[in-house]
Amino acid sequence: MKPYLKRAWAEVSLRQLRKNIAVIRGLCDPATEIMAVVKADAYGHGYDRVCECLAHECGIKYFAVSNLDEAIAVRKLCPGAEILILGYTPPEYAHEISENNIIQGVVSMEYAEALCKNSPDKVRCHIKIDTGMGRIGLRYASPAECAAEAARICGIEGLSAEGIYTHFAVADSDDPDNIEYTDRQEKFITDTYDELVKLGIKLPHMHFMNSAATCYRNNSRSTLARAGIIIYGLHPDISLDIPEGLEPVMELKAVISQVKTVPAGVCISYGRTFTTDREMRIATVTIGYADGYSRLLSSKGEILVRGKRCRIVGRVCMDQLMIDVTDVPEAASGDIVTLIGRDGDDRITADELASVYGTIGYEVVCGISKRVPRIYFD
Ligand SMILES: *Cc1c(COP(=O)(O)O)cnc(C)c1O
Repeated sequence: MKPYLKRAWAEVSLRQLRKNIAVIRGLCDPATEIMAVVKADAYGHGYDRVCECLAHECGIKYFAVSNLDEAIAVRKLCPGAEILILGYTPPEYAHEISENNIIQGVVSMEYAEALCKNSPDKVRCHIKIDTGMGRIGLRYASPAECAAEAARICGIEGLSAEGIYTHFAVADSDDPDNIEYTDRQEKFITDTYDELVKLGIKLPHMHFMNSAATCYRNNSRSTLARAGIIIYGLHPDISLDIPEGLEPVMELKAVISQVKTVPAGVCISYGRTFTTDREMRIATVTIGYADGYSRLLSSKGEILVRGKRCRIVGRVCMDQLMIDVTDVPEAASGDIVTLIGRDGDDRITADELASVYGTIGYEVVCGISKRVPRIYFD
């Protein structure tokens, strides 16, 4: 038996990852380079193998992460890469940013000054502009005021400002009101860049495209496309199709440990939330909420067994769950089942699973826990 075929595991297709990158390159203007967003352990896919594949096989030069630890991990794997930290780094650690040649997102004058105080070498940065996300960055009523503040930050000695960027809040929507909102965000950042040019500051980078913008509103003025979820083949929003060729990279599998036939009136799992109403065949599966398979899928989720959908019955436990295999008479102990992925003609995606319990595919893949080994296929 293969060493990973033990209990629950995730299969990651590096071949599909490469295909997705090729599709994304095709979407982008030649002036726009992909910045691969690999925060949160490459959205749960495992940053080491993913970064290796992206850097060495796909020729990706730019990476984005959420924090310093992730940045240093990516630096070890990709010595020549440009790595941007999107989130907060405590200023006390600024020397580690510069030592590792990492680029920090800077959200204010005070933050920029604090970083410089804590680093003997110049700190490289991109300045974050809040154009409507309401999360982090410089927030001003007009591009001219925003550019004036950005220019003051660029003037700090000890800082090397190399770009400005912003983040869209609703680029994954086709609602006209939301499209207009994103139009305004886009205009604000490009106008801010142009105002900076008027002040004599021509930064090498301006970027505002995320996955949704890369799919639905490409713009050659964005020097980078900060693509996250579409690299992994999932939807920014399940209600909008993504371009042809983008397919999920990860599958989630487990094993049937036991199958039993029970009469009507038998309670299944904690809380007695499910009772058989007839004779049924119940299979126990070796995965649970401690693996990141949400308890919110209790009596709701479906799992593929021998290519057929089987419903979860009763509550998802920490390490196990039960399914109804009455309609799959061949189901047997030792069968490999598919929680996310393809089996025969059917498939269950992380996006579909997410919609069953009211979240997004992002949370499903990021939530698959450390206990689940990632297995890589080419
Ligand atoms: C996470 C993140 C992205 C990537 O978003 P996707 O929707 O996964 O493409 C891009 N930019 C910033 C600032 C982010 O935080």
